[in-house]
Amino acid sequence: MRVIDIIQNAGKTVFSFELLPPLKGNDAGKLFQTIESLTEFDPKYINITTHRDEVEFKEMADGSITKRTVRKRPGTVAIAAAIQHKYGIPVVPHILCGGFTKSETEHVLIDLNFLGVNNVLALRGDGIKGQHVFQPEKNGHANANQLVQQIKDLGKGKYLEEDLRNTAPLDFCIGVAGYPEKHFEAPNIELDLNYLKQKVDAGADYIVTQMFFDNKVYYDFVKKCREKGIDVPIIPGLKPINLVNQLTVLPKIFSIDIPQDLAAALSKCKTNDDAAKVGTSWAIEQAKDLVANNVPSLHIYTYGVSDNVKEIVKAVF
Ligand SMILES: Cc1cc2nc3c(=O)[nH]c(=O)nc-3n(C[C@H](O)[C@H](O)[C@H](O)COP(=O)(O)OP(=O)(O)OC[C@H]3O[C@@H](n4cnc5c(N)ncnc54)[C@H](O)[C@@H]3O)c2cc1C
Repeated sequence: MRVIDIIQNAGKTVFSFELLPPLKGNDAGKLFQTIESLTEFDPKYINITTHRDEVEFKEMADGSITKRTVRKRPGTVAIAAAIQHKYGIPVVPHILCGGFTKSETEHVLIDLNFLGVNNVLALRGDGIKGQHVFQPEKNGHANANQLVQQIKDLGKGKYLEEDLRNTAPLDFCIGVAGYPEKHFEAPNIELDLNYLKQKVDAGADYIVTQMFFDNKVYYDFVKKCREKGIDVPIIPGLKPINLVNQLTVLPKIFSIDIPQDLAAALSKCKTNDDAAKVGTSWAIEQAKDLVANNVPSLHIYTYGVSDNVKEIVKAVF
């Protein structure tokens, strides 16, 4: 089932969560345990992240610099299909511009369609370590709006090869990312919103936000989007803090603010258990307020941890 239909037909806020595929060499057992501990709360769909290969630049004996792949993180397509078929819960695999050519993306979309997956979250991805700016693959997309366009084209049976014989349309419901506190590369929020509108105009069905810890930031963002003419559902992304170091790590990685009250409470925490208690109760208050304001869905970033997610969902739904 398509995410847009799920949220539009629900008539109330639904709950979904995001999982990372296991690292290469690990099996999917822990991932399945996380899902099983949350199925009783009736998640309506599950997002599965994608991670491009990690590369490093290495100086060779002759002084030249070469790019070497140091870690592969495969599995999104396979794990997404396995989850959807094992649990009967629709999945939303993330697909990236970074690290993929248009042709590779077309293959991924053909595979997903073949496996009965008809939802995707279309993202640009970040630049690789050692590169200051994002660089697309040769024959890849530079921004998520181009990726959305490719997916929409496939929905009309428009493939990359003109002479392709089987050009059955591939229909996907498409989500894209939005940044209430602005994407870190955007010079200002206005330009960032213009580009967000471009993704929606290209055919995105809904937006999922980056994490935020002050709901006012989300409500202001929704208001600004509506003023720009962005009229698709905007799903808030919620991250329950569960580690002491997230107080400094999350703002650095995601370019977001931690409100003073939360920062003060976290800075008194001596252990990760203390931080998880603080983070979970903060997330519960955020979630209650968002649900009271009829948001379409709560998208919870799990990072593989489910106890706090359980507590939040129990307290809120
Ligand atoms: C809900 C969510 C899930 C995510 N999941 C993953 C994941 O699974 N894997 C992963 O690697 N990353 C993930 N990310 C992170 C994401 O890939 C990064 O934030 C990335 O830097 C931007 O992706 P985007 O799709 O928002 O890019 P874009 O929409 O392309 O925007 C990137 C930047 O370019 C600007 N821009 C946009 N369009 C144009 C244009 N046409 N011309 C010039 N500038 C433009 C924007 O203002 C922005 O500053 C996720 C983010 C969110 C919010």
